[in-house]
Amino acid sequence: MANQNETPIDDVKDVATTEKPAVKRTRKPKTKTEMGTTASLFGFAPYQEKKNEEYMSEGQLEHFRKILEAWKAELMSEVDRTLSSMQDESSALPDVNDRATQEEEFAIELRTRDRERKLIRKIEQSLQAIKDEDYGYCETCGIEIGLRRLEARPTATLCIDCKTLAEIKEKQNNG
Ligand SMILES: [Zn+2]
Repeated sequence: MANQNETPIDDVKDVATTEKPAVKRTRKPKTKTEMGTTASLFGFAPYQEKKNEEYMSEGQLEHFRKILEAWKAELMSEVDRTLSSMQDESSALPDVNDRATQEEEFAIELRTRDRERKLIRKIEQSLQAIKDEDYGYCETCGIEIGLRRLEARPTATLCIDCKTLAEIKEKQNNG
């Protein structure tokens, strides 16, 4: 289920008065939640839907394409940085202890790189889905994943319900 709290039902118009509503319906700046999204990391404001705009319109697809491209570029340059820093550090270290520490560090960096590569692959899959206009729909049940969820996780391929179920199943299999 989507968070119902985010879209309060406007019942003001049912009240037969000419009075203005006491509280103006201005959008509060959501510092924590919106700052934490992948989109905002790259300076993209959350997508503003036009009235009656259909889900995954051209504008929305373009919005997420830009975010994914920026994210991918950032990760690619990180992979490059890791590689070159490893090459720099591998030059002669005489002490055996230093060498052990260095090997540990390399192992961590390699794992990080591996994660980054996997993420890049996921991003590429999302970019392909945008091209195919399959983007934004749950792979399992087919419903709309939703703008808010995609804003936070542009590579999401499951709706929140299917994702939660998948995580429960995974826990059961591992436990
Ligand atoms: Zn689903």
